[in-house]
Amino acid sequence: MLIIGPPGSGKGTQAERISERLGVAAISTGDIFRANVKGETPLGIEAREYMDAGDFVPDSVTNKMVRDRLNEADVQDGFLLDGYPRTTAQVDYLDGILVGRGDKLDLVLQLTADDEELVARLLGRARETGRSDDNEAVIRHRLDLYHGQTEAVVAKYAGRGILARVDGMGGVGEVTDRVMGMLGDLLKVPAVFGR
Ligand code: AMP
Repeated sequence: MLIIGPPGSGKGTQAERISERLGVAAISTGDIFRANVKGETPLGIEAREYMDAGDFVPDSVTNKMVRDRLNEADVQDGFLLDGYPRTTAQVDYLDGILVGRGDKLDLVLQLTADDEELVARLLGRARETGRSDDNEAVIRHRLDLYHGQTEAVVAKYAGRGILARVDGMGGVGEVTDRVMGMLGDLLKVPAVFGR
C-alpha cells in the first residue's frame, strides 16, 4: 500500500497508525533521508542540499534507496510506503520492483487538504521541531512540487482503479477515524488485500 499527500497532510502520522492496523512496516523515504542526514552518511550528505531547498532528491539516489529497503526481510509480506513515489518516473521504477517480486499494489491512499491549511500547519511544526525544510518559501516550493509532479502520480493510480481519497482536514484523530473507516470497509472485500 502507498500513502500520498502534500507536505503537512499528516501522512507520517496516519502511516504509523495504518501500519499498526495492518501489521505491515511503514517505510518513510523522508525519515530515511533525515536519519542519514543526521548520521552524516554519504547518502545523507548527498540528500541534504535538496531537502533543505525543498527539492526532490534525484531519482537515481531515491530509487536505489527504496529498492534496497524493499529487499529487507521484514517487508516480504507487505509494506506501506510513505512519501514514495513522488514522480511518474518513480512510479515506473516501483512497478519494475513489484513485477520483479511477483507483487502488486493493493491500495493507494491520498490524503487531501487545502494549501493554506497546510502552510499554517507546517509553520506551526517549524516552530515546534525546527525542521530545516519548514520555512514558508521552502514550504510553498514543496507544495508546488506536489501539485506539479506528485498529482500526476495520483492520477496514474486513479487510472488503475486503486486510489482511495481521504479528507485530511481537521484534527489528527478525526482524520484517523476517516482512514480507518475506509480501510475497515476495504478489508471486508477479500479481493483488495487478498492474495
Ligand atoms: P517528507 O518527510 O516525506 O516530506 O520528505 C522530506 C524530503 O525528503 C522531501 O522534501 C524531499 O527532499 C525528500 N524526499 C522524500 N521522499 C522523496 C522522494 N520519493 N523523492 C525525492 N525526494 C524525496
